Amino acid sequence: MPQITDQAILLRDYDLEFVSKGPLDGIWCCQYLKCPKCLYYVLKGAKYDECSCGNISIDSDMLRVTVSEILESKIATYDAIKK
Ligand SMILES: [Zn+2]
Repeated sequence: MPQITDQAILLRDYDLEFVSKGPLDGIWCCQYLKCPKCLYYVLKGAKYDECSCGNISIDSDMLRVTVSEILESKIATYDAIKK
């Protein structure tokens, strides 16, 4: 499974600003979803991204965020602001 977010570059070049826990009114209003299990930041705007444990995946063609193992309300979301 492809993972396209380079975590080291993300954390080096961006400040991550907390947005919400889970979706707001059913919409993920964020750039990144942080997996509580593997701590990977999943890019929501990506064509395809998935965290290393497979809990969160993105399919932008379908505009779909899939969370397999954890309640969506437990997932912290962030916007990335260039340092
Ligand atoms: Zn994960």
